Amino acid sequence: MADPKGFMTTPRQEWPRRPVEERVRDWDEVYVPGALLPIISKQADRCMDCGVPFCHQACPLGNLIPEWNDLVAREDWRAASDRLHATNNFPEYTGRLCPAPCEAGCVLAINQPAVTIKNVECAIADRAWEEGFTPPRPPERLSGKTVAVIGSGPAGLAAAQQLTRAGHTVAVYERDDRIGGLMRYGIPAFKMEKRHLERRIEQMRAEGTRFRTSTVVGRDVSAADLRTRYDAVVIATGATAWRELSVPGRELRGIHQAMEYLPLANRVSEGDLEVSPLSAAGKHVVIVGGGDTGADCLGTTVREGAASVSQLDIYAQPGAERDEDVEPWPTYPKIYRLSAAHEEARDLRTAPAADADARLFAASTLRFDGDEAGHVRSLHLVEVDARRRPLPGTGRTLPADLVLLALGFSGPDQEDGIIEQLGLELEPRGTIARDAGFATNVPGVFAAGDAARGQSLIVWAIAEGRAVAAAVDRRLTGSTRLPAPISAYDRPMVV
Ligand SMILES: Cc1cc2nc3c(=O)[nH]c(=O)nc-3n(C[C@H](O)[C@H](O)[C@H](O)COP(=O)(O)OP(=O)(O)OC[C@H]3O[C@@H](n4cnc5c(N)ncnc54)[C@H](O)[C@@H]3O)c2cc1C
Ligand code: SF4
Repeated sequence: MADPKGFMTTPRQEWPRRPVEERVRDWDEVYVPGALLPIISKQADRCMDCGVPFCHQACPLGNLIPEWNDLVAREDWRAASDRLHATNNFPEYTGRLCPAPCEAGCVLAINQPAVTIKNVECAIADRAWEEGFTPPRPPERLSGKTVAVIGSGPAGLAAAQQLTRAGHTVAVYERDDRIGGLMRYGIPAFKMEKRHLERRIEQMRAEGTRFRTSTVVGRDVSAADLRTRYDAVVIATGATAWRELSVPGRELRGIHQAMEYLPLANRVSEGDLEVSPLSAAGKHVVIVGGGDTGADCLGTTVREGAASVSQLDIYAQPGAERDEDVEPWPTYPKIYRLSAAHEEARDLRTAPAADADARLFAASTLRFDGDEAGHVRSLHLVEVDARRRPLPGTGRTLPADLVLLALGFSGPDQEDGIIEQLGLELEPRGTIARDAGFATNVPGVFAAGDAARGQSLIVWAIAEGRAVAAAVDRRLTGSTRLPAPISAYDRPMVV
């Protein structure tokens, strides 16, 4: 803490976003380029170095937040980068995409706005790349052991990087044509530009990690075969089995799952397609689902030029402040948050009626109606109470030429046959069963990330990747010096 009064003299200031009118015309990140560095040292100096840092506890990676806040306040960027990379393989991803449970747990947040921890993390990561503080770190010697990692999302990539650096020969198998998992074809570029992925992949290649893209394990290569060819296998295939909406009219054309829609839009921003076959241009769009995936659809439809967009959330509108009785500090509270996409929809008044907010809360879909050609044209909804019972007289119809279902994911996609080929046991909810040390019921086969944890966050996926790497290293060599920030049974800090 360079300035012990920093938190009293400096107000919280976040990385400013570009004007809405400007940013919705492109796919670039929403932030003003270069506007973070000039403000961030003063912001880091708001950290009180409080002695018992709950922020550190709230971060699944155990990021050493007060330490790097102090180093950034003193402008020692190299040391800050070393401390940050000691616990996080990919801070430029979490610095842009993490919902920052650390900030909810910041001691300052008890009665003041929290330190902008996520922004500090992002500034350190970006500066580290600019200054060359993150060169490839290939192992000094090879162990002679081999590991197959299935899936190249944040969990698979973190596991692969840790194991490669520990000296094992690692091959990452990925069914898509590019590496990155949901960060590649789910999350839109306006939240994180794909160049951040390319840079890390290049670093990992230089360290010795091998990548096998466009290879569906279970179909193109059998999972049982991988088990015999490699000394260990890590399954990090994500939770991509989406939830359905079983209401009348679901079969109409024009109703799609979010993860049918978002990858095509991402392919446009990658330059693979000129126009998405599911483009929202000129259409009335309704997004069913109030979470992050729905917000990503919202920002994408706005950029594609939708005629109108609404987003339905089954939950009631949360309050603007934390309810201390229900979700006390330092837990991550449900409060009304305005993401960049929600801000765009509000400012551009995308809602079809007079609603200022594109989100309709406590809204439950009753049915879809279509035209004679079998295409969806409207969605009927009703307001519901906390127990999801319809409230009389609240029925409403929205125009809908394109409906996007963003209702979450139930577990790993089982169609590829991996689970059957290996004889893996599943949890009752469909995720891959494992012990506290990430080992499945099949010796030498481990599971990490959303495939085993269920739908979660990038920060948890990276923590899982680091922890599973430690477990695999121990199995292969009898001991490990790799850090394990979490056990497979750890959960977010909630009431
Ligand atoms: C639209 C969307 C937006 C999100 N936004 C955020 C956000 O802003 N912040 C945040 O923290 N979290 C966000 N999340 C959640 C986050 O992306 C996931 O929790 C995280 O990516 C999970 O990482 P993972 O490595 O376990 O799996 P994934 O990222 O899902 O990666 C799994 C990979 O395995 C591959 N694979 C699957 N089966 C096979 C097979 N048989 N053979 C070969 N490869 C296979 C898949 O193609 C995929 O590339 C979002 C999720 C979605 C859907
Ligand atoms: S990874 Fe997320 S929780 Fe951890 S310090 Fe960064 S923003 Fe906070």
